[in-house]
Amino acid sequence: MQGRFEKRGAVGIIWIDNPPVNAISVGVRVAIIDGISRLSQDPEIKAGVLACAGRTFMAGADITEFGKPPLSPGLHEAIEAIENCPKPIVAAIHGTAFGGGLEVALACHYRVAVAAAKVGLPEVKLGILPGAGGTQRLPRLIGVEAALNIIVSGDPVPAPHAAKAGVIDKIIEGDLTEGAVAYARQLITDNAPLRKVRDLKVDAGQLAPGFFDAARTRIAREKKNLFAPQRIVDALQAAATLDFEQGMARERELFLECAANSQAKALQHVFFAERKAGNVPNLDKSVTRRDIKSVAVIGAGTMGGGIAMNFLNVGIPVVLLEMTREALDRGVGVIRKNYENTASKGKLTTDQVEQRMALLKPTLSYDDLKDADMIIEAVFETMAVKKEVFGRLDKVAKPGAILASNTSYLSIDEIAAATTRAGDVLGTHFFSPANVMRLLEIVRGEKTSQDVLATVVDLAKRINKVGVVCGNRDGFIGNRMLGGYAYQALLMVLEGAMPEQVDAALRDFGMPMGVLQMSDLAGLDIGYKSRKDRDPNSFDGRVSRSADLLVEMGRLGQKTQAGYYDYAPGDRTPRPSAVVASIIEKVSEEYGIRRRSFTDEEIVERCFLALMNVGCEVLREGVAYRSSDIDVVYLYGYGFPAYRGGPMFWAEHSVGLKTALEKLKKISAATGGSWLQVSPLLEQLVAEGRGFASVGG
Ligand code: NAD
Repeated sequence: MQGRFEKRGAVGIIWIDNPPVNAISVGVRVAIIDGISRLSQDPEIKAGVLACAGRTFMAGADITEFGKPPLSPGLHEAIEAIENCPKPIVAAIHGTAFGGGLEVALACHYRVAVAAAKVGLPEVKLGILPGAGGTQRLPRLIGVEAALNIIVSGDPVPAPHAAKAGVIDKIIEGDLTEGAVAYARQLITDNAPLRKVRDLKVDAGQLAPGFFDAARTRIAREKKNLFAPQRIVDALQAAATLDFEQGMARERELFLECAANSQAKALQHVFFAERKAGNVPNLDKSVTRRDIKSVAVIGAGTMGGGIAMNFLNVGIPVVLLEMTREALDRGVGVIRKNYENTASKGKLTTDQVEQRMALLKPTLSYDDLKDADMIIEAVFETMAVKKEVFGRLDKVAKPGAILASNTSYLSIDEIAAATTRAGDVLGTHFFSPANVMRLLEIVRGEKTSQDVLATVVDLAKRINKVGVVCGNRDGFIGNRMLGGYAYQALLMVLEGAMPEQVDAALRDFGMPMGVLQMSDLAGLDIGYKSRKDRDPNSFDGRVSRSADLLVEMGRLGQKTQAGYYDYAPGDRTPRPSAVVASIIEKVSEEYGIRRRSFTDEEIVERCFLALMNVGCEVLREGVAYRSSDIDVVYLYGYGFPAYRGGPMFWAEHSVGLKTALEKLKKISAATGGSWLQVSPLLEQLVAEGRGFASVGG
């Protein structure tokens, strides 16, 4: 039993004690039922408090029980025991009451919390819905509309907001247990009723006509393609129209529908994949970390500014170095503007903007880098420039400073060789916009030392990033794979699909942006310049031909209001372009390619199977440690839809590896072969009947 019972006069306290987060394991459920039975039977006790030891209230279900046969007593039994207790029970909440934790609290007759506590029903993030009465009790307590917003967003609600909404009855100042016991004593004195949430009336009459249909339409737009949010609307409609028991039965049905849906499996994969990513092979977990109290960023361009913001946001001072006063002022101005925009949306106070800006020290002098614990380089993507910068860093950085490069493609080992301290060097590859995108690829150089790697893995969490450690190879994980994906998109454009069809198919699949749209955003000149520096035999000239012609016409993408698409001034909406269509048709003809029509399904399959194929190579070479790390990279760096689990999970579970292999072979044969070579790892897995989980750590 993971709990104990304490008597304080007329109040019985059921203590739950299941470190670290009081997950509602079978032992916790037993402790609840046992505690309720003791306080029900003890004639001296007139009211109860349900409280948790340690750093939090019950933070949710016990994930170690997932996917196993249910253990008795179940959560429903514990919840019913509380609600049916003949004496009022007060939930005393600190830390987080999430998921099943909040459902337990909703079964209590009253709830008090410290101001720093948070409550929430995050099940939707795992593709399911609250299945222990959350969808039926919350609307009874706080109204349908407020409950819908909390359950559909899945986001944590700070206790003061929850109190305003009516989830929490009182915010306790000072000691929570004493406050909760005093609250319970007051209930006894007042002879307060047993307020069972299940018996409260739903505010259905106050809802606007057509409320549920309007909610479905809005949610279809905001939570595109998602299954569970629509079922949550159904569950709340049941709460508004059926009695409690019928509503609970409906919640159960809807819960099972969600649990059986492929999106739930994909989202649960994402949940575990993210946790696994922190587990780095060949890294001594106990190694002493270096202390990172200050950071310097070199280059205040697109990336440098965003990188700096990550540290300012968590109170780490940043020195920002540029080459010229003008570039420095521009970079600092962009950071300020970003913060001010956030403040104008009410997400930061003006004081907070100033506090963050005060942590930023702009400079033109390398001397100002000498105290930094970590220096991140984000200058132009040219090896000669990177080497020059690292050579200078070697001279000014203090001993033990971590030296990191934000390079997208270049070799970390070669950059490290420009210093006399290669062990201190690694890659920190942020994604654009660097203050928004959650992915951080942490590139492990051949000589990167254990403590440097461990420090940066921890630092990623500190700045709210999801860190994925990868090997040092051209383009690392994400950008290397992008090549295979973009190649197919461009090839299909030559074979007959126009950019707008390709991009729309990718967006309908769930990508935030199509690949041609993304090229326009990044600028077509970037690829153009890099092709000029590369061996022309290293890429398929057919697919770059249209882009070259567009660049030579001055169509560089969004910045010139023309690229693969036309853009109206000040508007990022891509508009199909007749000029581009005629160039594409001309190039198809030039290469003797017969144009044909494509289905959206074919577009999606070709793009993402090719992406997964490069992923197999990344895995085979050990650049990624496990296929779930590749999924994490695509989810958090490129916006691959989480409800599809990532490109590797999607290929394995939605397409099937055997089918994927057959299709890839066909695509390869039909498109000339050499630019799409099927990964030997995929062939081997299919031949041996194995899945991705059998590869790597
Ligand atoms: P950018 O051109 O916007 O900014 C580079 C900045 O570095 C410029 O302001 C320039 O003045 C400054 N700079 C150049 N040499 C310098 C030096 N010696 N000392 C101080 N400052 C110097 O480029 P960016 O897009 O921010 O890219 C920076 C790095 O980040 C590149 O390695 C790039 O490959 C990588 N990256 C870019 C993206 C992206 O989407 N833009 C994404 C991930 C990684």
